[in-house]
Amino acid sequence: MSATATAMPAAASAVTPAPKSATVRTSVRVPLRFADGYSTDADVMTFIGLVDGKEHLLLGLGDWRVALEESRDGGEAPLMRPHSECLTGDVFGSERCDCGPQLREAVERIAHSGGFLAYLRQEGRGIGLYAKLDAYALQDAGLDTYEANRAVGHADDERDYSMVAQMLAAVGADRIRLLSNNPDKAAQLEGLGVRVEAQVPTAVHLTAANARYLAAKRDVTGHLLELA
Ligand SMILES: [Zn+2]
Repeated sequence: MSATATAMPAAASAVTPAPKSATVRTSVRVPLRFADGYSTDADVMTFIGLVDGKEHLLLGLGDWRVALEESRDGGEAPLMRPHSECLTGDVFGSERCDCGPQLREAVERIAHSGGFLAYLRQEGRGIGLYAKLDAYALQDAGLDTYEANRAVGHADDERDYSMVAQMLAAVGADRIRLLSNNPDKAAQLEGLGVRVEAQVPTAVHLTAANARYLAAKRDVTGHLLELA
């Protein structure tokens, strides 16, 4: 594979070398309405040139253009959350994890202050949907969420946030306030050249069904979670 860097990505092809930059492909306004009735509009952006070729989205929420202008003028950086796809939690309301409530919370908080939510197609911390469900079966046999990932042949967390840095650069956001409890997201984004000026914690969405999952996130990967 050639390592030659080109400024303009070639026409969409799955085998082109990873480009350094991505560009916005389309932006379309989508009215969102959640199950609890909360609604807002999102500018849903698609991209050309994302490193892994997957169909990741960036949602511009609230007055995100104003937030960007204020950021460029030295004001507060826009609020931003990278949210990894969770079909069971985001779509079906599974209580095995806290993804659905985190997504719902993030959209409202970001819409309120103006900013971005990246919706990333890396299910199950990057292992995929079937493997995640296999890991659930092992969790029912007593393993925690990370032990179960390892038992099905995967790492604790296989996510990579390079495409987030690409998407933020494409819209001109070079500094953010990161809405996340996950220290790895902050570290990776900083390493990718995004200035993470603050890490803003999300609420704790604790239920009887997800208590062990949240405890493992806190104890194994250092998530900032206060569990009663
Ligand atoms: Zn989930």
